[in-house]
Parts: sequence; C-alpha cells; structure tokens
Amino acid sequence: MTRFGKRTVLGAALALALPAIGHAQGTYPTRPITMIIPFAAGGPTDTVGRLIAQAMGTELGQPVVVENVGGAGGTLGAQRVANARPDGYTILLHHIGMATIPTLYRRLAYDPINGFETVGLVTEVPMTLVARRNFPATTLAELVQVARRERERLNYANAGIGAASHLCGLLFQKALDTPFTTVPYRGTGPAMNDLLAGTVDLMCDQTTNTTEQIRAGTVRAFAVTTPQRVASLPDLPTAAEAGLPGFEVSVWHGLYTPRATPRPVVERLNRALVAALRDEGIARRFADLGTAPVPVERATPEIHRTFWQADIQKWRPLIQAAGQYAD
Ligand code: ASP
Repeated sequence: MTRFGKRTVLGAALALALPAIGHAQGTYPTRPITMIIPFAAGGPTDTVGRLIAQAMGTELGQPVVVENVGGAGGTLGAQRVANARPDGYTILLHHIGMATIPTLYRRLAYDPINGFETVGLVTEVPMTLVARRNFPATTLAELVQVARRERERLNYANAGIGAASHLCGLLFQKALDTPFTTVPYRGTGPAMNDLLAGTVDLMCDQTTNTTEQIRAGTVRAFAVTTPQRVASLPDLPTAAEAGLPGFEVSVWHGLYTPRATPRPVVERLNRALVAALRDEGIARRFADLGTAPVPVERATPEIHRTFWQADIQKWRPLIQAAGQYAD
C-alpha cells in the first residue's frame, strides 16, 4: 500500500472514530459515576461529599455513588483516582490535604500535583478544637496548661498524616511547643466515636463533624480556628479571642478527575457541581454545619487549580519548619 493509501485508510478510520468519541462525550454520563471520598464514612469529608454527590447525580441524570477509601491520611483514595481511567466515571472529592500531601509525603505511588484535573472548589469549613466531655479543662487557656503538663500522656486523634486534623494538630503542638501522642484513624468519623467514648482526649476537626456534638454537649469545645466566629456556634470563641492568635486553619474542598480527562467531561462535571452549589437545601444544611458553598463564580477548574497550587506553596514552609514527614 502507498503512503497516500495508508493515510487515506487511516483518515477514513479516524473519520469514523471521531464522531463516536464526540458522541460518547456528548452523552456523558451513560452510567453511574463513583465519587471517591478518601476518608471513612460518617466523617466531615463524607458529609460534604454525599450532599454534593446526590445533587450532582440529579443534574447529571446518573447516580453519583460515594465510595469511602480511607487510610494513610487520604492518600489511598487520591491514589485510586489518580490511577483510574480518565473517563469521568471515577472522581475525587478531597480537601486541604491535596495541598499538604505533596510536602508531607516524599514518596507516593501517584503524582500528587500532576495526577489530576481540577473540576472546581466546593466549600471551606472552619475547624474546632474539641476534647472528650469530661476533659479536665473548660477553656483554651486551661487546655494549654493541661497540655503543657501532660504532654505525650494526652492522646490526640487524627485521620493520619495529610488529614486536616493532622495539620491542625501540628499547628497546635507547634503553637504550644508541646508534643502529644497521636492516634491515627481512617477518618474523623471513627475518631469522633472514640472521643465520645472517652478513649482519646483531643481532636481538631471540621464543624461539619463537630457542630452537633458541641451543641449536644457530648464533646467539650475550646475554640474555632477561623478569624471570625461561626454563626452556627455563636458562643464558641475564635482561637485568637481565646488566647492563641495566629492559630488559624480552614479546610477547603475541591473536586478532581484523573489527569487527561477530556475537557468536555470536566466541563459537564463542573456544570453539575455548580448546580449542586446552587441547591438551597445544600446551602441550608451547610449553614447549619458552619459552612457555605463557594460562590459559583469561584467554582471553575482554573480558579480551583490556581488556589490549590498557591496553597501548596503556603503550607510547604510551615510543614518543612515543623519537620514532620510521613516517611
Ligand atoms: N476531617 C478529617 C480530616 O482530618 C477527614 C474526614 O474524616 O473527613 O481530614
């Protein structure tokens, strides 16, 4: 066959194939989508993810099924998505860990920066410093005294290195210059169960997991980690008000697909995400849990990527200064 002939056959094959690809993307999704939550069921990332997944599924006309892949500070779930087929049927809802893991982990079985496409930002959630209900301190100042006295005798629960609860604990220990014993879980849902049972002493976790327990008095709360108080917990002081200025961290969430997911698929997912962020039921539930959907104009793949990259740079020197790595 001549080169020309080959080209003609190849051209004809491409002409046949291209409409099929275009058609597949045009009708995406044709089957259920799996949303990986990289922490255990019942925790705050799971709470946010399930609300968003349900609304996205309604808009997409296909269920978005949540699968919890907890462990190793959220890296196991992220790895699963980074290594999945980039076809839009496996997506990841992750949090601030996406910005700390590239520094915390010097060896990973996936690329924590270039392994993903960004779909959009979802929400930003304050954290709260809480203890078992019979903890021998009622204010942050008293907690600091107890912590400095008891040091490693205190058990601090977190969701592994890379979790928001890990980051908050790292900042708290650094602010006090006092180490605690850390107890890692696959997510702060199970960690909360142990805090309620009194088998661990302390935790720092999103309001999406702690609000109801704080209101019910089943955990002791000391401070919220944002510059302003949260409307859903008006009596809880900020860390700065309670005596620890500069102790600030809030947990942002974003939606991702594997790298090289076709742009029309990312755009379709983004439209569904924006619909979820506009859902009044979700906004009400978020508000009750101390958070809010991001304004839809910020929920673009580009703004998400820029924000994420800037956050990697923001946390890198702090993590390096703390000198605590996963390996
Ligand atoms: N809130 C957890 C964290 O510390 C994760 C979770 O269980 O959602 O990152």
